[in-house]
Amino acid sequence: MGDFQVKKQSKKYDAVIIGSGAGGGMATYVLANAGLKVCLLEAGPMYDPAKNSCQLNRPWDSPRRGASTKFRPFGDFDGCYWGWEIDGEPYTHVGDTKWEWWRARMLGGRTNHWGRISLRFGPKDFKRKSIDGLGDDWPIGYEDIKPYYDKIDRLLGVFGTNEGLENDPDGIFLPPPKPRLHELFIKKAATGIGIPVIPSRLSILTKKINNERGQCFYCAQCGRSCKVYADFSSSSCLVIPAMKTGNVDLVTNAMAREVLTNKEGLATAVSTLTKTMARNTKWRVKQLSLLPARAKAQGYYSIQNRHGIRTVSLIQVTWLENICMIPPGRAWEDTFLPYLTANDTMKME
Ligand SMILES: Cc1cc2nc3c(=O)[nH]c(=O)nc-3n(C[C@H](O)[C@H](O)[C@H](O)COP(=O)(O)OP(=O)(O)OC[C@H]3O[C@@H](n4cnc5c(N)ncnc54)[C@H](O)[C@@H]3O)c2cc1C
Ligand code: SF4
Repeated sequence: MGDFQVKKQSKKYDAVIIGSGAGGGMATYVLANAGLKVCLLEAGPMYDPAKNSCQLNRPWDSPRRGASTKFRPFGDFDGCYWGWEIDGEPYTHVGDTKWEWWRARMLGGRTNHWGRISLRFGPKDFKRKSIDGLGDDWPIGYEDIKPYYDKIDRLLGVFGTNEGLENDPDGIFLPPPKPRLHELFIKKAATGIGIPVIPSRLSILTKKINNERGQCFYCAQCGRSCKVYADFSSSSCLVIPAMKTGNVDLVTNAMAREVLTNKEGLATAVSTLTKTMARNTKWRVKQLSLLPARAKAQGYYSIQNRHGIRTVSLIQVTWLENICMIPPGRAWEDTFLPYLTANDTMKME
């Protein structure tokens, strides 16, 4: 494959954020609300629980009766796209270890199906080395972080109870759901032998906290993601509200492959690969996506794989500042292309 020329994206941002999960979503929300112009790059597709969730679907709504696939390892109704294996994104183990990493690819990342258990680090969690010699002490302690936990509780809504426990700090909680009969039995038995039993602490709205989000109606399908936004997900509670500020350009299906730097080593841009797959569809370069090769400036790549799926892989650069280096020609080969070229026939159109 020849060299590549990368077309400049003229708009410059105050911040380019890679990934829209719990971390990237919060960064986007905070910076956009502070007035910064933000570009949010997400490797997966757009996902809005209100429109895309399978909440309340019935078994016969799935051709597999809800059974799992590689795309949805936790079942056809699960709120998370991909997981332990992702087509085109090989995963390696060190030696004969078998440690697996769950990788979501969608707006909101893993928060679309996470457990919603929202616990604070306690004072001891910051100082483990001093306590038992394991790990390292953090340079900060619980009191430094507490104001931010309080802010999060108010912003996102967490239910629970204040218990005054030593290493499970209290919070600013919504009321927990009423305990069910078996929970009352367990509490009674455990309390009798000195084991405290308290309600979970989950980021689920047992009461309305604003007009954007609904209240939980206890369908017990949070893992599918919540259409009324009664649970926390980065997509529903951070990215989608942040986009309403007008300060966020969200680019989906854009996988960051390199942070480009200037001579001083400062970040100037992030280059991404756009990987979009659609059956029998031709995808063309849009303004933000880009990429002709040096040899054929108007061209785009189309790849026909064994299963008849057409894929276009593009390199895109999102600019932070004026100066930006065009990445050297072998940019693609290091990322998706080994997979695609090894398995597919490729032609340039
Ligand atoms: C089944 C399950 C249940 C869980 N339950 C709980 C729980 O109850 N309580 C709790 O505290 N934690 C829980 N977790 C963990 C929690 O979900 C994660 O710690 C949290 O979501 C991590 O946020 P993150 O932003 O780091 O990553 P993610 O949420 O995974 O988001 C990463 C995002 O970055 C994107 N991305 C990755 N690489 C690139 C790239 N190169 N370019 C562009 N985009 C990229 C991905 O597509 C994804 O959208 C659970 C996790 C799982 C899988
Ligand atoms: S938050 Fe409540 S209404 Fe929403 S999915 Fe979970 S249980 Fe159902």
